[in-house]
Amino acid sequence: HQAQRQGSNYQFYSTDINNGLQERLALESELYYALDRGELLLHYQPQVSLHSGRIIGVETLIRWQNPTRGLVSPAKFIPIAEETGLIVPIGEWVLRTACAQSLAWQAQGFPALKIAVNLSARQFKQQNLVETVTQVLDATGLDPNYLELELTESLMVDNIQQSINVMQQLHNMGIVLSVDDFGTGYSSLNYLKRFPIHTLKIDQSFVCDLVVNSDDAAIVDAIISLAHSLNLSVIAEGVESQEQLDYLQTKGCDEVQGYYFSRPLPANTFTQLLQEGKTLSLAV
Ligand code: C2E
Ligand code: MG
Ligand code: MG
Ligand code: MG
Repeated sequence: HQAQRQGSNYQFYSTDINNGLQERLALESELYYALDRGELLLHYQPQVSLHSGRIIGVETLIRWQNPTRGLVSPAKFIPIAEETGLIVPIGEWVLRTACAQSLAWQAQGFPALKIAVNLSARQFKQQNLVETVTQVLDATGLDPNYLELELTESLMVDNIQQSINVMQQLHNMGIVLSVDDFGTGYSSLNYLKRFPIHTLKIDQSFVCDLVVNSDDAAIVDAIISLAHSLNLSVIAEGVESQEQLDYLQTKGCDEVQGYYFSRPLPANTFTQLLQEGKTLSLAV
């Protein structure tokens, strides 16, 4: 910008970089209106028990239906929302909508499922996070035991004492805490035992080549053992095949989530899945 205004080295920027910046700025300004314009929506992906084959949880995944661009992936707009601070109102909307949806399913007579919501670093650092979560639970009437918040390792170790403090408050309210993308961040095994965590989510990058890559298989084994020796439950993300499923079941993994059982679905399609009573058939 500076160069442009001074009328000097405009050509210094390569066209690609310039296009990239413009694209990013355009996306950013469109994101400012996305929430008010009702362009954000939630998809829900079932989490299935490897002990019973039943759906026991659901992860909430945000989508942006942009009028001109079509469906924009959260991988693309969550970082922008994070940098601009838009993640705070957006995140609050996600939390409120997910809790309300979960209660709506309960009201329709389906067995209560824990509903998982992803929290970003910026949200986690908000002074009033605990207050916001409390308000949403009060307003919707959801039992905190059915709310799970997914945190990443890097977010937790950024300011450890502060993190423990916030996590302890959420834990004391009855909320379940899980570590998302486990194994990809700054995994300090020392800190792990100090956080009030309930579940480790094995990152999908380890699950992906599990069957053909013995290193990935070894990492998955190690995470399952680690989780169980710390009395944590463990779920594998990105499970796409029967072979991956069989392996995880043999190793005692507690839950799975992935395209093999179901893609993330709009609420009404998820409702159909509950109506059908879809379960995972497990080898005995
Ligand atoms: P995540 O929380 O680790 O979510 C798992 C991602 O894996 C999701 O991507 C999901 O659609 C995808 N996935 C599920 N099963 C499979 C599978 O079998 N194979 C493959 N290849 N992928 C699978 P998605 O929906 O694009 O979300 C990407 C990331 O964006 C999430 O990763 C999460 O970090 C973030 N995100 C999504 N929704 C929210 C939100 O509401 N708030 C915040 N802060 N972040 C969100
Ligand atoms: Mg997640
Ligand atoms: Mg993940
Ligand atoms: Mg991820």
